[in-house]
Amino acid sequence: MSDAAWGKVLAEIVGFSERIRMLPVVHQHDPSALRAELAESFTFGAPRDLAELTEDVIARLRGGLIHVTHPRYFGLFNPSVHEASVIADTLTALYNPQLAAWSHAPVVQEMEQLVLRTLTALIGFPEEGVHAAFTSGGAEANLTAVLAAIAHRCPESAERGVSAFTERPAIYVTDESHHSFLKAARMLGLGTGAIRVVRTTPRFVMDVDALDTAMAEDAASGWLPLMVVATAGTTAAGMVDPIPAIADVAARRGAWLHVDAAWGGAAAFSAKLKPVLLGIERADSVTWDAHKWLSVPMGAGMIFCRHPEAVHRAFAVHTSYMPPESGSLTADPYAVTAQWSRRAIGLKLFLPLAQLGVAGFAERIEHQAAMGDLLRVQLRAAGWSVVNDTMLPVVNFTHADITKGRITTRALLDAIYARGNVWFSDVVVGSGTERVLRACITSFHTTAEDVGVLVGELERVRGES
Ligand SMILES: *Cc1c(COP(=O)(O)O)cnc(C)c1O
Repeated sequence: MSDAAWGKVLAEIVGFSERIRMLPVVHQHDPSALRAELAESFTFGAPRDLAELTEDVIARLRGGLIHVTHPRYFGLFNPSVHEASVIADTLTALYNPQLAAWSHAPVVQEMEQLVLRTLTALIGFPEEGVHAAFTSGGAEANLTAVLAAIAHRCPESAERGVSAFTERPAIYVTDESHHSFLKAARMLGLGTGAIRVVRTTPRFVMDVDALDTAMAEDAASGWLPLMVVATAGTTAAGMVDPIPAIADVAARRGAWLHVDAAWGGAAAFSAKLKPVLLGIERADSVTWDAHKWLSVPMGAGMIFCRHPEAVHRAFAVHTSYMPPESGSLTADPYAVTAQWSRRAIGLKLFLPLAQLGVAGFAERIEHQAAMGDLLRVQLRAAGWSVVNDTMLPVVNFTHADITKGRITTRALLDAIYARGNVWFSDVVVGSGTERVLRACITSFHTTAEDVGVLVGELERVRGES
């Protein structure tokens, strides 16, 4: 063991959330210079001192990232992380528990199941008869949901693949849905033609009448309505599709309802925000990422499904080299999920939940929603217009200088990134073609002062351009 190396790690971890504030949020690099410099510095030829290397790597991390854990990172759904999660992930690396089979890591399996049962209750799913598992992220969870829907609708597909369907399966999404469904359709042999894109309303949510019409037209031309995807917290605009009305249409037309709550699922922790998720309890399956608004390090997604038999059918395999089933209360994860060797993903959610409690999580989530509200107020006061309408902390906004073509969002962002004080992005929302700016509160450390810095940077750069 290298005590000196651990000393450096510990010194970096303790007080990190205060020190990260002192660093620029953004670092820009010349790609070829970076590649060459690394190849020169690390030849992997002779052994080197671990403490020195640790110090070197820490310095490179400090100066070589967009710091997503920075309180002035207003970016994509990448969080600041709970201190307890860092401890949990360190212990996970140290013990390297293998969660493929229950019997190899009983205590971690049951810690994960305890967390999953708690979250199952938060989304209003029944206590019994739910398959819940940690995944690498939302993409794997969405893939799992589509595969389960296939196995549910067409049990023979487990052996015969999608050729077992007599009609072509269709999956209904919107332009605002996550693009992981396109990949899932390819990976599962459905092809991207199976992804039917339903129009959105001017509020950037699924137009439920358009969904109903599209499903009727498709059924008449030989499509099978496999799945409807409602998003709870869209990536571009933080909107929640009208889940109850979508659930009605899905039920009437015999389709599986999947709610992709990768980011927005966190609202289930808060009595104040929970109403936005109304109807989620009617879903056949739900995706929810812990590594987004629940503030744990990547990768930590979750899948919840009310048809465990379909999930089991989708993944079931048996082999003599795995340990026999051990009389555990849940099936061995390797036989009911996409992964085989499996990291203790859930420990980094277990520990902060045990430390802060459900109420502590709710407080952090509500704080971020409040910072989103404050950002909207400050933007409007400075003459910017907010173009989306959500209780969740994603703010899409623009300015007459942008809409009149005096400055592009790209030029504005480049000038702001060069200053390094804040990071946010731009995006096209809905059926529009114009780019708007997008800022999301992703850190529970973000303060009113940080929000003020964002608006100040915007005004300064707009004034100078
Ligand atoms: C992030 C996200 C995904 C993809 O999840 P990963 O964890 O990045 O794999 C899917 N859907 C939505 C709505 C998301 O926000």
